[in-house]
Amino acid sequence: MLRKHIVMVGCTAPSHVYPSLGVIGELVRRGHRVSYVVGAPLAALVAPTGADVVEHPTTFPLGEAAVWPDDPAEAMRVFLDEAIAIHPQLIARFDKDRPDLVVYDIGGLGAPLLGERYGVPAVQLSPTLVAWEGYDEDMASVMEPIKTSPSGVDYAATYAAWLASHGISADPWEWIGHPSRVLSLIPRAMQPHADRVGSHVRFVGPCLDPARLADRSWTPPSSGRPVLLVSFGTAFNDQLPVYRDCVAAFAADWHVVMSLGKHVSASDLGPLPDSVEVYESVPQLAVLEAASAFITHAGMGGATEALWFGVPTVAIPQAADQFGNAAQLEALGVGRHLPAESVTAASLREAVEEVSSSASVAARLAELKAEIRGHGGVSFAADAVESYL
Ligand code: UDP
Repeated sequence: MLRKHIVMVGCTAPSHVYPSLGVIGELVRRGHRVSYVVGAPLAALVAPTGADVVEHPTTFPLGEAAVWPDDPAEAMRVFLDEAIAIHPQLIARFDKDRPDLVVYDIGGLGAPLLGERYGVPAVQLSPTLVAWEGYDEDMASVMEPIKTSPSGVDYAATYAAWLASHGISADPWEWIGHPSRVLSLIPRAMQPHADRVGSHVRFVGPCLDPARLADRSWTPPSSGRPVLLVSFGTAFNDQLPVYRDCVAAFAADWHVVMSLGKHVSASDLGPLPDSVEVYESVPQLAVLEAASAFITHAGMGGATEALWFGVPTVAIPQAADQFGNAAQLEALGVGRHLPAESVTAASLREAVEEVSSSASVAARLAELKAEIRGHGGVSFAADAVESYL
């Protein structure tokens, strides 16, 4: 295939970057020129793919002081405001260097506008579940209050005005809810009502980034104890009481690896035995490869990675899609959902023991792991992207 110019509009959250990183690297390896749009703080995450990183300033809540608004429409507004703010920079750049194809994360809201402007397809690379046929009716009790709240009304008005200023007349909820071309990067098993997902969506994942898979900066302990990974991802990790419960429950006979994030430090946990390792961030794939159980908030990234490595989960969801993901993992027979309010050292212990010792959980995990790994990985996903060129 001829060398093409592909613009990827990302968004400035690691969990939105990781799922498609391997595909981007593969497209570069195949000789395409990829311009990857992302906030400056994540430029270093993207650079190893070989893409040209198009950095922009970001207002995303990142780091220690990061606070996402609790109000759902205000949280969505963070994505919208960023997209509106960076759009002039993107137009100025790509008017002079037009793309042959636009791909984008669900948070890269300006991408479909670029597709329209340059007369090329815009293909969403979705890192989470997609809407199924009947989604609007099924989710009305969740979405209606958001749409009719003052912040929701303001969101839609701002979005509509932005679209109109680019010559597009569309209802914003329709526009974001029904993208025309989607490549889903989650395991099909994690998609609710997968049989009701339209043909505009192709399941081409998951395709973990080979560079992340090759990261061996963590090695398993020599003690031979089963390894437990405790990670609440990149945004919901202010969880000191849970970390303390994990030390109390597992330090005596498990080997515990904890990703604490920026809010909690090792000293908050007091003196720790050798059987407990704590870090601000861990090479999660290397740890999962050795893990016998995973205590997680059930972000889609972590849930996908657990299935890839066949690790049973105890899910303590916090927000967003995590409740649905926790329910899906339980329905798949590979994990337990532990509501945050029922977390104690004893309930954690009981749940971890149950999922890690169950023969039926192990059998189900083996099936899903084989299915997921047999799906084609980065090569299959990159073929799918190229099919739009
Ligand atoms: N992650 C990691 N090391 C850590 C914590 C997280 O590599 O210490 C990665 C993890 O492998 C996953 C992503 O960050 O790919 C987190 O995504 P997820 O959807 O699980 O959670 P979110 O951060 O969106 O809440």
